[in-house]
Amino acid sequence: MRRIHVLALLLLLVLVVAILAAVKLDIFSSPSAPEDPDLFQSGVEPVPEPDIHTITLTAVGGLYPHLAVLNENCSGGEDYDFWPPFEFIAPYFQKADIAMLTLETMQAGPEIALWGVSGYTGHMVGSILTFNAPIELSQALKKAGINLYSFANNHCMDRGVKGLHATLENVRNLGFHTTGAYLDQEEREAVDIVEINGIKVAFVAYTYWTNGIDIPAGEEYAANMIPNYPDPKFREISPVIADIKKARASGADLVAVIPHWGEQYVDYPFEEQREAARAMAAAGADMIIGGHPKLVQPCEWIDLVEDDGSTRSVPVIYSLGNFYTDQHYPSCSTDLVEYGMLLNLELSKDMDSGRAWVSNVDYDIHWCYREWRHRMLVLSEVFEEGPEKFNLNQSQLERLEKKYRENVEIIERYGFTDNRPSYMKR
Ligand SMILES: [Zn+2]
Repeated sequence: MRRIHVLALLLLLVLVVAILAAVKLDIFSSPSAPEDPDLFQSGVEPVPEPDIHTITLTAVGGLYPHLAVLNENCSGGEDYDFWPPFEFIAPYFQKADIAMLTLETMQAGPEIALWGVSGYTGHMVGSILTFNAPIELSQALKKAGINLYSFANNHCMDRGVKGLHATLENVRNLGFHTTGAYLDQEEREAVDIVEINGIKVAFVAYTYWTNGIDIPAGEEYAANMIPNYPDPKFREISPVIADIKKARASGADLVAVIPHWGEQYVDYPFEEQREAARAMAAAGADMIIGGHPKLVQPCEWIDLVEDDGSTRSVPVIYSLGNFYTDQHYPSCSTDLVEYGMLLNLELSKDMDSGRAWVSNVDYDIHWCYREWRHRMLVLSEVFEEGPEKFNLNQSQLERLEKKYRENVEIIERYGFTDNRPSYMKR
């Protein structure tokens, strides 16, 4: 019995020594660094993750603070609050990196006059419709998430160059980027660039006229206007082409052209505008986001082949339609003036190659609810959430569904969604 115990102990000892030796061997034979790195290569190069940066640009059309709008947002004296109209649409702007609209009004302060007209106006004074709104309007829009104004539009001279400059300073003080109008020649010569997340987007904004209030000789830098005004067809676009090329040469990753063009109350662009769009795209525009006609118009794609054989697809939005306005039927010939396009562009850049492109596009339709303090409602949200939240009844909802379809039919007339590039999300 005793011998068996001794044998068992001996066996156990041998086993323990063997295990220890194995562990020891293993520890010392595990290489922490290969002596010859070539021995450890698998033969397949690791593929580096592409470094793609992405930002979003949201755009809506023209903002016209008519007198009715000024009055309903005034609680007496100089006490204005424009927040309620934008409370429902604000989240759509706040989530965008760049959120822009066309500011078809001055916010110069009440004292700056032109042709004897001063104070806050949003109505016909004499023979011209002139807009000058309290700065509280921009305070509300800033809070709502708008951060870029295009000034190149037919109302930019509503208080003359003095009023334009006061407005530029007032809105820049609130933190807005501005494009299409300038304080001096030096600003005019610079390229309007917004840089976010390493992506530089240049803006080139031009208007076809300034409502017959001429920009004074010597102050042409004040606003970008095409040379053959007042032709809404944008036939002579040499300065636009020059600015697109200048923006490209200055290092912009993407160039957005903001043309203020086209015939009002017409739901299609002129053939000349389509030609102008092709010329702008060929010159280097990556997106064309137009406005002024008060209605949405068909959108389309311009597909280009670059010198190096790569392709580029340029979305063209001829008209975003109205945004915030008191226009309505029957004082206007169609109730489509109450609607507009909420455009969302996704912009991407490969940070290694420097290549940038419009990587996705979608849109919604918004409606200005005139009887409810002109609140801006996004229609697909209304359809999802139901009418009660938005102070609507069933017959209003049915009308909105019909108008949504009408707007989409116009926008899609040239196959905007069906023809989008295949790499875009479906
Ligand atoms: Zn306009």
